[in-house]
Amino acid sequence: MPKKIENVGCPYCGVCCDDLVVTVSDDGKKILEVENACAIGNQIFHHATGSERVTRPRLRQPDGTYKEISYDEAIDYAARVLYNAKKPLIYGFGSTNCEGMAAAAKVAEKAGAVLDNCASICHGSSFLAIFDNGYPSCTLGETKNRADVVVYWGANPAHAHPRHMSRYSIFPRGFFTGKGQKSRKIIVVDPRHTDTAQVADIYLQVKQGHDYELFNAFRTALRGHEIPEEVAGIKREKILEVAEIMKKARFGTIFYGMGLCHSDGRNHNVDIAISLTRDLNDYTKWTIMAMRGHYNIAGPGVVWSWQYGFPYCLDLTKDVAHMNPGETSSIDLAMRDEVDAFFNVATDAAAHFPIEAVKHLRKHPWITIDPNICMASEISDLHIPVGIVGVEVPGIVYRMDNVPIQYRKVIDPPEGVISDEELFERIYKRLCELEAEEAAKGKAKTTPVGVHAEE
Ligand code: SF4
Repeated sequence: MPKKIENVGCPYCGVCCDDLVVTVSDDGKKILEVENACAIGNQIFHHATGSERVTRPRLRQPDGTYKEISYDEAIDYAARVLYNAKKPLIYGFGSTNCEGMAAAAKVAEKAGAVLDNCASICHGSSFLAIFDNGYPSCTLGETKNRADVVVYWGANPAHAHPRHMSRYSIFPRGFFTGKGQKSRKIIVVDPRHTDTAQVADIYLQVKQGHDYELFNAFRTALRGHEIPEEVAGIKREKILEVAEIMKKARFGTIFYGMGLCHSDGRNHNVDIAISLTRDLNDYTKWTIMAMRGHYNIAGPGVVWSWQYGFPYCLDLTKDVAHMNPGETSSIDLAMRDEVDAFFNVATDAAAHFPIEAVKHLRKHPWITIDPNICMASEISDLHIPVGIVGVEVPGIVYRMDNVPIQYRKVIDPPEGVISDEELFERIYKRLCELEAEEAAKGKAKTTPVGVHAEE
């Protein structure tokens, strides 16, 4: 009899839907049906048992092809690369569990590596603003139960976080928002008339790259000062109308995304968004929340802050952890060619880094640790497959509002495939052994050499 598993978490976006129902075959090996997930979430589960899964580590050969090797051989190779590197970079972690992140941090510390996560190219600018200005935020449950005004600023959840609007912000009927969408005023600020803008009560088509000015206009208007006839493409009357709606809200939440973090101003856009939220709290209750991307990209921020005091861009090459985005961030390190080995973990840096950064990183040994074939795996010297968290591996993940959720496993990983956590624990052990072996021989470290494919 096929078995239905309830309260399954979705390992894709930061909404971390934990209401999925997954039906598995009687032998517990095949996923037959996934209920409640959006199209993206659905695909994650069905992909797990697809024929294209890689089930053994693959080492690049001199002719450019891959040869399957054992996990022991792969672990030895990875440990040797780390041991020999002067400044390895271990990057990624958007799509794994907190247990894997903590195990990786142990390895990074032992190897004297730089440890960074996808926030570096995503909501890292949010961290910078939060360091400066605080984070008057809330949980998604509070928005669902209380918010009568919701702003999406530079975010398009209809495409990036498909169930965000139905679970938490627009459509659900909460404790004090019993009429669902009718209880709420939805405001969307975006240069494009997105599918999210389609469901807005008020759409502000801000000029691309001029968000800072618009925030400034709102803050000025709220204080009762004059503002120009038009700011960032928005008419004065509209700004005054929206400022009034915000002021009269019972509870408001500003959700913001890459429209602020990736456009001119970056952390300053987020900084002033936080300032506007603070200003609004002089009148009523307002909160702000970053639309975190991957399902557990909030995880490394929490785990590593607890371990080292810093959420990302951690330089562990010296005795004391150091963080300085711009200096210790992955792209900056790659562009300055400052690292001599690269570990791509639970992400796809080859697809999402600027090509110049990829070219620099590719000069050195590149190891990908990921369940899937992706651009990073295909340019790697070594690809080590691992189990898919939330499908084959259980663990803790942090939702976009930093609420921890225990994810469960629904099927076993392919035979012999191990988890990120186990892999990093074994790399750590091998690294300790290598250190002891080499110390006994009195050998000095050498610069690592990768086995690269023909360019
Ligand atoms: S909204 Fe996000 S977490 Fe929810 S099912 Fe879709 S991809 Fe998964």
